[in-house]
Amino acid sequence: MAGKARNAFVAMRPPGHHAERERAMGFCFFNHAAIAARHAQTTHGAARVAIVDWDVHHGNGTQDIFWDDASVLYASVHEMPLYPGTGAASERGTQGTIVNAPLRAGDGSDEFRDAFETAILPRLDAFRPDLVVISAGFDAHWRDPLASLNLREADFAWATSRLMEAADRHAGGRIVSVLEGGYDLDALAKSTAAHVSALMEG
Ligand SMILES: [Zn+2]
Repeated sequence: MAGKARNAFVAMRPPGHHAERERAMGFCFFNHAAIAARHAQTTHGAARVAIVDWDVHHGNGTQDIFWDDASVLYASVHEMPLYPGTGAASERGTQGTIVNAPLRAGDGSDEFRDAFETAILPRLDAFRPDLVVISAGFDAHWRDPLASLNLREADFAWATSRLMEAADRHAGGRIVSVLEGGYDLDALAKSTAAHVSALMEG
């Protein structure tokens, strides 16, 4: 937000997107993406912040925190049914700023990219965020033991590039990406490398 960097990736554990307003759950104690969004608003004057979440699990915590908030768009693509059980397309928030694009077990690159292009990117463009926060989980990778989507490293790089284009259109390129889940360590390392490499391009 100060203009010292084009974007940033935060490599940390534990993840945060399951932590709700009043409850820690799903390995998560504090919701880092939500804290980042609110900090950008209260300290750096961002009017609208978009949080895009491609962790294979639905970010029930982020949805809970911003359910009634017109100033934060929360958009998630995730496997369903799966933990934590939320994330149906019918869950839209009281302000219409919650976007859920659930995929089914066995879905892969085509379904993921289609959901991104048809459900998430148009909403991002309509919302015109001043900052894009990515909840970057890598447990939708085909090797991950906790879920059943079949993404590859290239899918995460592709999604990163699409979000960079959207951030360039609306947010001066500003992206802060925070690590969420990812439980096959080799897949996590390679997927994170593909994501960060994409962030460093352009
Ligand atoms: Zn996850």
